[in-house]
Amino acid sequence: MTDRIAYTKPSITELEVAYATEAARTGWGARCYDYIFRFERAFASHLGTAHAIATSSCTGAMHLGLAGLGIGPGDEVILADTNWIASVAPVLHLGATPVLVDILEDSWCLDPAQVEAAITPRTKAILAVHLYGSMCDMDRLLDIGARHGVAVIEDAAEALGSEWRGRPAGSMGAFGTFSFHGTKTVTTGEGGMFVTSDRALFERVSILANHGRDPAEPRQFFPTVTGYKFKMGNVAAAIGCAQLERIDELVAGKRRILARYRDLLSGLEGVTLNAEPEGTVNGAWMPTAVFAPETGITRERLMVAFEQAGIDARVFFWPLSELPMFEARPENTRARDIAGRAINLPSYHDMDEAAQVRVAAVVKGLFKG
Ligand SMILES: *Cc1c(COP(=O)(O)O)cnc(C)c1O
Repeated sequence: MTDRIAYTKPSITELEVAYATEAARTGWGARCYDYIFRFERAFASHLGTAHAIATSSCTGAMHLGLAGLGIGPGDEVILADTNWIASVAPVLHLGATPVLVDILEDSWCLDPAQVEAAITPRTKAILAVHLYGSMCDMDRLLDIGARHGVAVIEDAAEALGSEWRGRPAGSMGAFGTFSFHGTKTVTTGEGGMFVTSDRALFERVSILANHGRDPAEPRQFFPTVTGYKFKMGNVAAAIGCAQLERIDELVAGKRRILARYRDLLSGLEGVTLNAEPEGTVNGAWMPTAVFAPETGITRERLMVAFEQAGIDARVFFWPLSELPMFEARPENTRARDIAGRAINLPSYHDMDEAAQVRVAAVVKGLFKG
């Protein structure tokens, strides 16, 4: 029996171990924020944003950002129907209304024409989620946002290392969010980051992130608004500092894996992998294969074949509108259709050639049979 091939796993070296150990030994009392501040500064500088706030998760960072924009009951937030629940849950928790639009065939990201058509006087934000490393069309979204006076925000959890015309994913909107969950390109176990270059928004979010305590408030333990507690711990931040020193290597590893899949599957008619159109870079967080309808290859067949081969593949995100807590959106035909004939392929950083060949062989086998 050959070893089971994992879907993702982090790349942890002696550097992460050394920083985490150092934080566990010394990062207390007066030094309990050292690695957190260092991680925030290093991340902002890497991305080219003015500010960054480390959080306990990307979901928490999104919640803070939406709250910082004042989004609440009666407001609408437009996002793609194809998304993980984490992007939309904070919208719901804040009492706002998600408006789910269809995706584009190639990038699997929200369709700008449908975004524009969905704008109403209640629209407060367009939530651009760069799916599986693919970039949303930021030129068109930023233009729509500017013309309608609506904030464009970026969930870049899957797009560390992705770029749009030389600008990093997460750095272009009113704010951006990132995840350092164990499956992501850079990990702290659990963790996230809020980034922005808008000073006023940064100050509002800083207060919200610190239980509503305003640094200008002279009284101790005197919150001036009801805030949140979504903070990252110092030991996690120490691991993040080490990962960030290795970010070029980590992203390059992911890109090498995606490129290798492109090679291995290039002879097959009707397989499309993650898009990387001219003027963009795909950080290649999650190699994903979509099969043309003519191939007859479905999610169900893929899951059975990978399971039998001892390979941990995952399904493409279900349309949110197919989940029980949302209203059905049968008009979002691409979101529904693509999910039924696609699969996420394993892509842990140190995946070797032989493992990728085994994955490709499963796909090739489906074409024969
Ligand atoms: C992973 C992910 C999240 C959630 O990140 P957490 O850190 O687990 O909250 C949010 N959005 C997208 C697009 C993700 O891929």
